Amino acid sequence: MPLSLYFHIPFCVHRCAYCDFNTYAGREALIPAYAEALCREIEIVGDALSQQGTGEEVHTLFFGGGTPSLLAPRHYEKIFAALRAHFQISPEAEITLEANPGTVSLDYLRNLRALGFNRLSFGVQSFHPEELRQLERIHDPFDVFDAVRWARRAGFDNLNLDLIYGLPEQSLDRWSATVKWAVSLAPEHLSLYALTLEHGTPFGRWAQRGLLPLPDPDAAAEMYEWAGEFLEGRGYLQYEISNWARDNRLPSPVYRPPSIVHRPFFACRHNLTYWRCEPYLGFGAGAHGHFGDFRVANVLSPKSYIDRLSLAGHRPSSTVYRLSSTVYRPPSLSPACVNHQRLTPRQQMQEMMMLGLRLTREGVSAREFAGRFGVQVTDVFGREIEELLRLGLLEWVEESNLPQAPKPAGGSRLRLTPRARLLGNQVFMRFV
Ligand code: SF4
Repeated sequence: MPLSLYFHIPFCVHRCAYCDFNTYAGREALIPAYAEALCREIEIVGDALSQQGTGEEVHTLFFGGGTPSLLAPRHYEKIFAALRAHFQISPEAEITLEANPGTVSLDYLRNLRALGFNRLSFGVQSFHPEELRQLERIHDPFDVFDAVRWARRAGFDNLNLDLIYGLPEQSLDRWSATVKWAVSLAPEHLSLYALTLEHGTPFGRWAQRGLLPLPDPDAAAEMYEWAGEFLEGRGYLQYEISNWARDNRLPSPVYRPPSIVHRPFFACRHNLTYWRCEPYLGFGAGAHGHFGDFRVANVLSPKSYIDRLSLAGHRPSSTVYRLSSTVYRPPSLSPACVNHQRLTPRQQMQEMMMLGLRLTREGVSAREFAGRFGVQVTDVFGREIEELLRLGLLEWVEESNLPQAPKPAGGSRLRLTPRARLLGNQVFMRFV
């Protein structure tokens, strides 16, 4: 199977009031050492993979955060040099950078494009200035218009915009205005997330004290359903609970440059690897990986991450791996790894159901399940599936009936019914 690589960049200009990601404001002085540490981790893990004969071709790379657009092009130049020296990168690889619209310029985006990035994901969240202030974002709507215009001029033909709904005091009218502004910019991809109140964030604390008037769940559900219908009517296909991608075979209300009309579908190939339980490695502070039977996680703190990698630089690399299993060495057990867990077959089956059912079009293929585990999905989860079919939350669909079947046709797939998209967690819980 081809491999995917994720890189975590844990720096932000300011910590937004709702955010609980592993990211830090005011630590930008660490960035040069952090970029060096990333290169070192790439070198160690890449070499370990080649020694084990498991150095598969890399088909997607994703720089997420935090705010990856805080790293300068010279940092990415070094990281890409390390990647090309220690991994086999497919010439067709999807290479994504998450960017905060308030941190980019035309020159910056041109440099990234020249380095090989071919997809940008902008954290837009809202087009309403008041909502952006409430979320404590550093950008305003005009930064988004500029960022998208510059991205197109720099040659990016694959853009995602992230939006959040269910904000404090948000009405359906305000939300629909945000979605309409986003569509007017003709991105290839849209991710719509419901605001969640995370423990330990300012939003979490304010809500606990009754200071944050959030829309009720029914209003948030209405926003989700409205957006789904609106986007389908504008040529976007929903392929995951929170993700829509441009389908170029549908008529478009906006001009499509000829260079992108030939591409049928713009689903994020990197994120598909997570939902399809395909292998990926994580680099950087707090990054996770999934390779073979293993789940691995790196140390959270950027400073500890840098220290661990700089120490590893002074040791022969064989000692770095002494901790690993004698039977099978998890290849991502880099010096930054603080947690690795071998999943049992039962846990892997549960993961395949929980993640695969997020894919609203393709769901979980019975044939792939049997091919991977040597048992039928109905033999393992028969009772759960029967109950969910009876409740109208799951349905069987023939692969050949999918409009854009991503895999060869000829099998049955289990997927969420449209009404179950709002009840996804209830469905996933049945499998664990
Ligand atoms: S920019 Fe993104 S990662 Fe950074 S604090 Fe805000 S929400 Fe979190």
